[in-house]
Amino acid sequence: MSNGRGTDYDAIVIGGGPSGSSYTITLTKAGYTVLLLERDKFPRFHIGESLLPYTADVLEQLGVLHKLGEEGFPIKLGLELSGSDGFLRRAALGDIGDGYRKWTYQVERADFDKLLLDSAAEQPGATVLEEAKVGRLIQEDGRVTGVEYTYQGETRGASARYVIDASGRAGVLARGLGLRTSDANLKMAAVYKHFGNLDESRNPGYEGDTQIGVHENGWLWAIPIRKDVISVGAMMPASLLREFRPEDLYAQHLKRLPRIEERIEGTNVYRELSGEQNFEYHANTLAGPGFFIIGDAGCFSDPVFSAGVYLALVTGRRAAEETIKCLTGEEREADVAERYGAFFKTGYETYYRLIRAVYDNRAPVMGRFIQQMFRESGIHEKWRVRTLNGDFWTDTNPFVNRLRAEPGWDLFGKYDRLYGCPVHGERQRELQAR
Ligand SMILES: Cc1cc2nc3c(=O)[nH]c(=O)nc-3n(C[C@H](O)[C@H](O)[C@H](O)COP(=O)(O)OP(=O)(O)OC[C@H]3O[C@@H](n4cnc5c(N)ncnc54)[C@H](O)[C@@H]3O)c2cc1C
Repeated sequence: MSNGRGTDYDAIVIGGGPSGSSYTITLTKAGYTVLLLERDKFPRFHIGESLLPYTADVLEQLGVLHKLGEEGFPIKLGLELSGSDGFLRRAALGDIGDGYRKWTYQVERADFDKLLLDSAAEQPGATVLEEAKVGRLIQEDGRVTGVEYTYQGETRGASARYVIDASGRAGVLARGLGLRTSDANLKMAAVYKHFGNLDESRNPGYEGDTQIGVHENGWLWAIPIRKDVISVGAMMPASLLREFRPEDLYAQHLKRLPRIEERIEGTNVYRELSGEQNFEYHANTLAGPGFFIIGDAGCFSDPVFSAGVYLALVTGRRAAEETIKCLTGEEREADVAERYGAFFKTGYETYYRLIRAVYDNRAPVMGRFIQQMFRESGIHEKWRVRTLNGDFWTDTNPFVNRLRAEPGWDLFGKYDRLYGCPVHGERQRELQAR
């Protein structure tokens, strides 16, 4: 098979999560061909269930947001932050200011990811294979030119002008090319359950909100993912899991945040305890001869402010836009790769700095920055909410600028930040002036 341009496809995407689907939708809409290879059969479980308002904006721009409404996913209007020391604040998404989306959805990822992957598969030019596992990269003269994968018991090969690593934590290409560096700044692990029979009238806060509860050595999340199902997770030092039974730790940590316990009273376990760890890493090279790395495959640190899906979608889309510039010969691949890397790093590092503010234990129980952020920073609420909602590529948000001024919170090597909101684009400056 050939696309008439000397390879089987214009791009091969490894992985059918949000980043891979976003890339595929964008590239095929521009008339190019994509082979997307996904290891699992969807729907499949995935953690990562709370979305940001900017995530909803990107989904709308990709043409899929209405499908989330049809699925009946819960609407999120706020983020409640509490501490085991009695601290309690709520960020209302609506306090972002005029011209911005003031709400988003919470999602059950199995169905959300399937909905996105199906939307990618519907595009003319897209070939999506599930239960197709990529095992090996094909390289020629220092260029990635294709992959070898197993499908229906057979090993096959396919070639493309670009190979995209959207394989999340697996990092098939990032690891295969030796580009991934493990980080151990936070050393956390997550254990979580889903509870059914949820009755939001028991919620001491606001229906649909994400709750984050911070205590002396970790934090918990509570995210309703269906009208009557809630995901509750505990983030804790990974070292604790080596010493104690995960079930016991989960129960102990839950007790520290009575507002979350109160919300799930009367529920029953719908999905048993599972966990994740070793998820801190980054790559300093995000694109190169014949490849782009998008979403979690390129970086992950911690999920506290629910930006993983957002970053996966926008880096997937941007990588497709940059691929087009290479395919048309409009720009030199090396220039495109450098610009894409700067874009990726600007967004992920801004989010990383927000995360570090939570783990900054210069104040007891809750990070000094986070306390300031919600209480005493002297910065108008709209800037705080904009930051939480996804304003990661700004250079005019004073709260983001404070985070960026904090020494010691660098994540990547030296690079020049690339500003410009991928969601609001040209409107950004006009909106930020409001
Ligand atoms: C504990 C925890 C909580 C989180 N909470 C949130 C949250 O509330 N909100 C949020 O936005 N994000 C959250 N995240 C992050 C979010 O889940 C990820 O950022 C997001 O899923 C990244 O999307 P992706 O497409 O890059 O990768 P993934 O969604 O991981 O998709 C990668 C895909 O690649 C496939 N794959 C892997 N190897 C191969 C192979 N060899 N061949 C073919 N396919 C392969 C996998 O099967 C998978 O489907 C959380 C993460 C963790 C760990």
